[in-house]
Amino acid sequence: MRHCNTIMANLGTTVFEVMSRLAMEHGSINLGQGFPDEDGPRDIRQVAADALVEGPNQYPPMTGLAELRQAIAAHAHRFYGLDYDWQSEIVVTSGATEALADCFLALLNPGDEVVLMEPLYDSYPPMIERAGAIPRYVTLEPPEWELDPAALEEAFTPRTRMVLLNSPMNPAARVLTMAELDLIRRMCIEHDVVCLCDEVYEHLLFDGLEHRPIASLDGMRERTLRISSAGKIFSLTGWKVGWIEGPADLMTAVMKAHQFVTFTTAPNLQKAVAYGLGKETTYYTDLAAALQGKRDRLASGLAEAGFPVLPCQGTYFINADITPFGVAGGDEAFCRLITEKAGVTAVPVSAFMRRGSIDNLIRFCFCKKDDVLDAAADRLQRFLA
Ligand code: PMP
Ligand code: GLN
Repeated sequence: MRHCNTIMANLGTTVFEVMSRLAMEHGSINLGQGFPDEDGPRDIRQVAADALVEGPNQYPPMTGLAELRQAIAAHAHRFYGLDYDWQSEIVVTSGATEALADCFLALLNPGDEVVLMEPLYDSYPPMIERAGAIPRYVTLEPPEWELDPAALEEAFTPRTRMVLLNSPMNPAARVLTMAELDLIRRMCIEHDVVCLCDEVYEHLLFDGLEHRPIASLDGMRERTLRISSAGKIFSLTGWKVGWIEGPADLMTAVMKAHQFVTFTTAPNLQKAVAYGLGKETTYYTDLAAALQGKRDRLASGLAEAGFPVLPCQGTYFINADITPFGVAGGDEAFCRLITEKAGVTAVPVSAFMRRGSIDNLIRFCFCKKDDVLDAAADRLQRFLA
């Protein structure tokens, strides 16, 4: 393609945009792209609205409003006992997506290798490659998606510079166990690599599971960058307010990338997220409890429609197996079929794979109103009967 970077020119459009567009075209219930159908807390939105009207609406400090960085530090301490200096160890970004890009740009050199597990969030591979580095995939197998120690060890080479973790995992809906975290910890230390953790679903764990950041394990704080996002914590995905926490030496480089990627993020949204992070612990536990109920509701509706449903420990996604329906064309064709004919949209899990091949699973998003989940299940049951 004329004048284009080959990595970007050869990319397709992200599956979330493709399926959301298709859903709109067919007026189907969109359980594809991950976003809640109800906006997060009104009081948080009110703080943002007031701050927008009252101002100031000029560039906030490059690393984020002081009150937000202080709130992020307090949040890490409150939930995990992690202590970060708000001035030198925290940066506010325009969503976790920017945070990831900043870290790749700041920490990777051409030829470096990054170990990552698939299925994975689709922004990782192209942005790692655009930073000149090489992704090395460890393929997890459904339905348990467990990390095979031999496969992890095999992925490491003398050129490995970074391990990228995502727990709870999108789209696998799984939480890494302590044993797996400890294995990754030992590999990171042995090979002296940085651990980049995408923890945007840190508060969305179910059945009594607790989130454990790898940064809190022995020897990991100094080599771990922790990414989160207000979009997931406060059901405000359109705001694109995220952040990174990490040791000062790495964060110095990350801030340099951030200063030339976006420089900063809307001040009223930052102010409102600072307010939100101060919410009582019950806000966070109620969110997970409500989602757990929605998970169970959709899971039973899907099972009634004939889908074997995979376990879901965290995130707001659940995967279902399409094998019993014997539709030709795999997961992608199935997602198009149910969008067009049943009026329900899901996303194919194959879109999250780069090395392995899974084509019998589709991902449904369940952070939707109960009647929407019921209607989706009802439509699928009738269509697939
Ligand atoms: N990482 C994962 C695993 C995600 O699911 C998402 C949500 N789309 C992101 C990063 C991006 O988050 P944000 O919308 O804050 O950029
Ligand atoms: N993270 C969301 C998902 O997995 C969507 C993100 C996006 O649309 N870019 O569905």
